[in-house]
Amino acid sequence: MSFLRREMSTTRGASTTGVQAATGCTYGKGNYKRLHYGKLAIVVYKLDRGAVRVKVKREFLDELKKFEFFKYRAAGVPASQVPKEAVDEVVNYVLSKDYEEMFDYVFLKDFNYKPPKKTLTRVVCSVCGEYVFENYVKIFNGKMLCPHSYDVKRYGERR
Ligand SMILES: [Zn+2]
Repeated sequence: MSFLRREMSTTRGASTTGVQAATGCTYGKGNYKRLHYGKLAIVVYKLDRGAVRVKVKREFLDELKKFEFFKYRAAGVPASQVPKEAVDEVVNYVLSKDYEEMFDYVFLKDFNYKPPKKTLTRVVCSVCGEYVFENYVKIFNGKMLCPHSYDVKRYGERR
């Protein structure tokens, strides 16, 4: 079993599908967690094998800026509507690169990750009154809250 933590918040884009396919980690299986760091990096953790953090190289991201494709995207054009030549140009560029030219990876020696325990125990959220599985409970002012109620109380909005 592998575990994946992705440092980018967005659910959009091919990279989400890509990392899920490559690692076998999915939201559905509960071993894929988004960290909301806003970074293009992932941490893959395998029981007994340790953890590795993979990030996209800054130099590589800087190089990508020169391509027309990203000018279209920055202007709000959906990827599916970018002219084919602009798409081909960037795809061919990426395909011409070696893995080492695009990514840095580092093994995390002291990575400490406890997979969420499976539990059937539910507790009542002290804000909304709904049942929530206990391993999702968050504590706020000494009370047990569901993650949604916690976000609303803590940040004033749903996250
Ligand atoms: Zn609640």
